[in-house]
Amino acid sequence: MNARFVDMNVHARISDLGQRVLDGGQICRDDAQFLFEIEQSADIFDLLSWANRIREHFKGNKIHLCSIVNAKAGACSENCSFCAQSSFHQTGSPKYGFVDPEPVAEAAEEANRNGVTAVGLVAAWKGLKEGPMLDEVCDRIRDLSQGGKTRADASLGIIKSQKVADRLKEAGLECYGHNLESSRRFFPQTCSTHSYEDRVETIGYLKKAGLKICSGGIIGMGETREDRCDLAFALRELGANVVPINILNPIKGTPFEAVPPLAPMEILKTIACFRFILPRQEIMIAGGRTVNLRDMQSMVFAAGASALMVGNYLTTLNQTVEKDLQMLKDLGLDPNWDKHDFTDQILEEFPAVAKTS
Ligand code: SF4
Repeated sequence: MNARFVDMNVHARISDLGQRVLDGGQICRDDAQFLFEIEQSADIFDLLSWANRIREHFKGNKIHLCSIVNAKAGACSENCSFCAQSSFHQTGSPKYGFVDPEPVAEAAEEANRNGVTAVGLVAAWKGLKEGPMLDEVCDRIRDLSQGGKTRADASLGIIKSQKVADRLKEAGLECYGHNLESSRRFFPQTCSTHSYEDRVETIGYLKKAGLKICSGGIIGMGETREDRCDLAFALRELGANVVPINILNPIKGTPFEAVPPLAPMEILKTIACFRFILPRQEIMIAGGRTVNLRDMQSMVFAAGASALMVGNYLTTLNQTVEKDLQMLKDLGLDPNWDKHDFTDQILEEFPAVAKTS
């Protein structure tokens, strides 16, 4: 038998950091990088068990479920390398203009029936300006927000004026989805038609309008562990309330179609590291979980996730909501049926611009 050396210093350092977070403290950049670099399976399981404790301590056993409705699909002017909806890539992804009120009402009704915490209106375009389209978007948000317990969210791209953010808030929007995608350093490899700064600036307008922020990124695009660590710290500095972690599902016809997948244990470790850095935020596992984690997807909660994107993603299929609800039940977790008002989060103030590279 080949026994493997277990370094008790690693075990002790993970425990120290886990206890510090449980006690309400924070870990620094060097500590976090140490966690991201852990390689041995026994150490990764150690890390997961602390991340699970931290989730239970700060978030309890309620799991938030979010779903999305694609309000405008395809033919996007941006060139994001991971995205099937960019007009720069030949992917065969569907294209249609801004949706009528009926599909939005149906999505809200279904979400209420399934106990989904939030429904997000998502549009494939560069961003939103003042004008007739903003009026239409606000009408749909009004419909969504009056639908019941389900929270009205939206992800509508880059915003360049405070007025637009204020109008969305007035229409009843509670939370805006706007991912940083990756670190400031890696971002230019994901997109060149807009910048990381455009994204940070958008988040500034949204926060000023009093909206909650759903911002995370995509892992497995070829970025380093350091990039993932920087992303988590940038989100901490920006005061993101919900942090979606997507795992790249390489789509044929996009520049990232041949990027090799991350190993499931690397994905789980990344989720756990995010929980250490962002103990009070909702960490949501979004696109790419089924294809990348396969049989291990239920372990995302042991790794510290507290929210799940359910229903189909924008351009790829997910497992059924019924299967997800059964998975939670089998794990002894409950979907959060209550209206979510974010009072379980105490976040730092938003600095002018995130300083993390
Ligand atoms: S990620 Fe958004 S902005 Fe980028 S190409 Fe896709 S739809 Fe357009």
